Amino acid sequence: MLIDRFGRIHRSLRVSVTDRCNIRCFYCMPHERVDFLPRDQILTFEEISRVVDVALDLGIRKVRLTGGEPLVRQDLPKLVELLSRKPLLEDLALTTNGFLLPGLSQELFDAGLRRLNISLDTLRPETFHRIARRNGLQLTLQGIAKAIEVGFTNIRINAVTIRGINEDDIVPLAHFCRQHDLLLRFIEFMPLDAENNWEHLLVLSGAELRRRLEAEFGPLVPVDGIDPSQPARDFAYADGRQRVGFINSVTEPFCSACDRLRLTAEGCLRNCLFGHDEWSVREVLRAGGSDAEIAEQFRQCVQHKKPGHGIDQPDFLRPRRAMYQIGG
Ligand code: SAM
Ligand code: SF4
Repeated sequence: MLIDRFGRIHRSLRVSVTDRCNIRCFYCMPHERVDFLPRDQILTFEEISRVVDVALDLGIRKVRLTGGEPLVRQDLPKLVELLSRKPLLEDLALTTNGFLLPGLSQELFDAGLRRLNISLDTLRPETFHRIARRNGLQLTLQGIAKAIEVGFTNIRINAVTIRGINEDDIVPLAHFCRQHDLLLRFIEFMPLDAENNWEHLLVLSGAELRRRLEAEFGPLVPVDGIDPSQPARDFAYADGRQRVGFINSVTEPFCSACDRLRLTAEGCLRNCLFGHDEWSVREVLRAGGSDAEIAEQFRQCVQHKKPGHGIDQPDFLRPRRAMYQIGG
């Protein structure tokens, strides 16, 4: 099993399948002149599948595909099919901006995917453009509708909220998600934007969001019995119709229960979004290394995990990579 120096057992692996994206959210990517990875540096599906097999042997049970935008990776449903057939994998999920879901939902569903997180920060086209620096709100909304139509259930909506930008979307997003039976999760803005514009003042805390929602919907009731390694704290609306969650990575870090590792698109293992160290499994794979050698990279990665991300500490140093280069 993958147990670190602080007793945390690692069961989740986030797999980035690309650093490319079809939009340019300001909290993630640079506006222009993006230095994407050359294609030959990106792990093939076979390589990802082999790394996942090793991870499963080491106790990983959940895999989330992410990016960049995972659906811009050609033939992604083929990878979903490869992974969804693995008996030890209990949970396979995908995080997407939804743009390509109108065309791909059915294929993804048929390939065995059942869990989808779709990012949606606003219901206003001009605010969408301000955040994503591209138009396309309608595509995301169509993507959500298509995913529901082909049979995805328990879809989660991720919303990053930023002071002065999409504060006015909090309540409309909550109404929208209740209306369509979607679980809305608000994520605090983290210092992982490529242009280095993050500042504490821009973070709308989960506590503040909760107060605003309670003013509209009445008291939110904490939902008990949720897996403690889940970063989100979920609440039920007073009328019992749907839930809403908060991922308070900045104001209420959940590092002590973190069970996640990350594999970047070019095959580097990371033990924290905010970490500075990486262990390359691609080098091992492409040098003809054994599964035991790949497993050793996992063990090293876990052994070096720090107790927390330290965003609020004076010596906090942002990671060299931005969100799209790590995999959110
Ligand atoms: N492209 C896909 C998407 O946007 O859903 C998957 C990758 S994206 C990096 C994964 C999640 O990270 C999205 O929900 C996105 O909103 C969130 N995210 C990106 N940058 C962030 C930041 N600086 N702080 C908090 N969340 C961020
Ligand atoms: Fe693309 Fe997702 Fe980053 Fe937005 S958050 S730029 S959709 S990878």
